[in-house]
Amino acid sequence: MPLDVCQLPLVGGHPALDLVNTLERGGESPHDFLSDSSALLRWSLQVGVISDGEADQVGRVWGDEPSAAQAGLAAVRDIREGLHLVLLATITDPDGGTAGDPIAAGAALVTLHQRWSGAAARARFVLDSSRVRLAYGTVPAMLVPDRIAEAALDVMLTADPTRVRRCPVREGGCGWLFLDQSRNGSRRWCRMADCGNVVKARRLTERRRAARPSGS
Ligand SMILES: [Zn+2]
Repeated sequence: MPLDVCQLPLVGGHPALDLVNTLERGGESPHDFLSDSSALLRWSLQVGVISDGEADQVGRVWGDEPSAAQAGLAAVRDIREGLHLVLLATITDPDGGTAGDPIAAGAALVTLHQRWSGAAARARFVLDSSRVRLAYGTVPAMLVPDRIAEAALDVMLTADPTRVRRCPVREGGCGWLFLDQSRNGSRRWCRMADCGNVVKARRLTERRRAARPSGS
């Protein structure tokens, strides 16, 4: 049985990158961990884009209006796909190539802008201890996608593009995205305990096999 979305390790270093990692793209059958609106709600609470009180409120509204829940999930999947395409176009692989397609990324930016403008139209300026803040998510039915649009905008505008990395697929990694927050910028694997060690063990076996005299 596949893991529940809340069991996925949060390796992204940013909720928007963890969002991209909720869709397993490798292999023959992609698996979407955001399988339904309830999985989306639990995940949103876990990564902290909504509070407990907001999760209760959204749960009630989505429970009463299944079409609103479906629309919320569809909007989040749309943002996830768009962000994935845009980030891939910004990542330089260790061999100097890029994993992304600039044309697909351009189209994805249009989608992301549409999603974000919807979220911005529903946002409010609030006075918060003598500072003005833009509060996203004032409409409960769209609160989750609006907060995700906010997170996607944040990662695109503020994350250092030279620190956004992809667990190296060509070297046996899983393709998850993460922000490299190591001091010297040398993090290569999403999780050393998983991808890093699996690949190292495989290389060791291959080396041993290659070192064995042929015919033995
Ligand atoms: Zn990995």
